[in-house]
This record gives sequence, structure tokens and C-alpha cells, in this order.
Amino acid sequence: MSDCIFCKIVRGEIPASKIYEDDDILAFHDIRPIAPVHFLVIPKRHIASVADLGADDAEVMGKLMVAVGKLAREQGCSDGFRTIINTGRVGLQEVYHLHVHVLGGPELLPSMLKR
Ligand code: 5GP
Ligand code: ZN
Repeated sequence: MSDCIFCKIVRGEIPASKIYEDDDILAFHDIRPIAPVHFLVIPKRHIASVADLGADDAEVMGKLMVAVGKLAREQGCSDGFRTIINTGRVGLQEVYHLHVHVLGGPELLPSMLKR
């Protein structure tokens, strides 16, 4: 996807503060953090959203979720963290390249959604 901003980060065409990468996944700090720890983990291959996942994506998504826990610990989230995947219009997804937000910090995070 030539005009996808996260694909551009994968290709090194725009800079990002990278935390980890391998052949399949990339983790980098969110440019507008909303918690003391706020990074994103993405598959390098362009997948628009969770709603677009297919059977072929199972292996990379499993690998991605395993990396989330390891990276969160390495980033200091020893006492817990939150993962968020915004999906589609209703989920208020802004960037249509699947990404897992990882949020944490020394203090408790705000409650997830108001009742
Ligand atoms: P969404 O609402 O799609 O789940 O969140 C997209 C996230 O990507 C936002 O938190 C936003 O700050 C982040 N973001 C958007 N553009 C860039 C960028 O160019 N670099 C980085 N590091 N983060 C970005
Ligand atoms: Zn992309």
C-alpha cells in the first residue's frame, strides 16, 4: 500500500521511534502518546484492520500478540497494561493498517469506557 502511513514507516520512508522489528512485525512509539507508555505493534504486511483478517494472517497475528507481552514488560509495564485495537468507523480507527495500541504507566489507567 503505497500511501499507507504505517507501510511508509515499515519501508523506512518516514521516521519512527522503533522499539522492535523482525521479518513480520514492527513496534514503535505512538507519535501522540496518551499514557506514559504508549506504543504500537503492527504486522509489516499491510492488513487494513481486524475485520480484514483472513486465515493466512493467523500465524503473524499470533506472533504479534506474543511480542506484545514481551515488549510491554521490556517497556516497564511490569504491573499490567492495556491493549486496544480500534476497528473501522464505529471503533474510531484512524489509520487503516492494523495496529495494537499498548498503554501503560506507573499509575492506573482510566477506566476503559464509561457506563
Ligand atoms: P487509531 O485511532 O487508528 O487506532 O490510532 C492511530 C494511532 O497512530 C494514533 O494514536 C496516532 O497518534 C498514531 N499515529 C498516526 N500517525 C503516526 C505516525 O506518523 N507515526 C507514529 N509513530 N504514530 C502515528
Ligand atoms: Zn499499510
